[in-house]
Amino acid sequence: MRRKIVAGNWKMNGSKDLVQQLVGVICDHAGSLDTGAEVVIIPPAPYIPLVQQQADGKLALGVQNVSEWQSGAYTGEISADMAKDLGCWYVLVGHSERRQLFGETDEVVARKVGRVLESGLTAVLCVGETLEQREAGEAVGVVAGQVRQGLSAVSADQWSRVVVAYEPVWAIGTGKTATAEDAQAMHAEIRKMLASMNAPAEEISVLYGGSVKADNAAALFSEPDIDGGLIGGASLKADEFVSICRAFPVGA
Ligand code: PGA
Repeated sequence: MRRKIVAGNWKMNGSKDLVQQLVGVICDHAGSLDTGAEVVIIPPAPYIPLVQQQADGKLALGVQNVSEWQSGAYTGEISADMAKDLGCWYVLVGHSERRQLFGETDEVVARKVGRVLESGLTAVLCVGETLEQREAGEAVGVVAGQVRQGLSAVSADQWSRVVVAYEPVWAIGTGKTATAEDAQAMHAEIRKMLASMNAPAEEISVLYGGSVKADNAAALFSEPDIDGGLIGGASLKADEFVSICRAFPVGA
């Protein structure tokens, strides 16, 4: 179902102290929003139980990455089934840092999406072009390839557990955000790509990520095809993250 989502991706940041500081405040101010948006915390995996304990059912949980394999001799990996066992609901797949720093190809990403969906979890497929690709006029083609390949094995009954996050690589952690109009244009393209794959495109949440802050979230979230955000740096600051969670137009 297409829903509004704000997901905080802590990346490899945090500590027990930070969990204590952040999660209570987020629950108090964003745990039940009158906009109906779902708030998701995606901490480093070791902190999941602690976040869950603090959140006390008021926030949804996710993991930043899982293995493409189900179980076995894969030292250092975390399986989708384990994430589910810990109470997670969302899994980021193909974040640009995984693609760029850990060499994840579209084939690996597609296998991970398959694994996540088989486990009964929701896959958040991350896609986005580099600055070079945007300047060369290749942005839509690059994103189309990532969407088509990453979601190539999704079956008809699994689309309700697919979310797409458009995160232009040049906007991640740089302070440069796509304008609301540019982001909207790409989100509309992504919906067309999904429709061309026989996916229920109008039902799939498409999130924007890349330097979303309290002062630009409202403009982004008021665009018709932007269903929320995947938030990195700003998700580590309680007041900033809470403001972002509340930035949806009321009654929309
Ligand atoms: P940022 O990161 O908000 O710090 O740009 C977004 C992301 O990588 O998901």
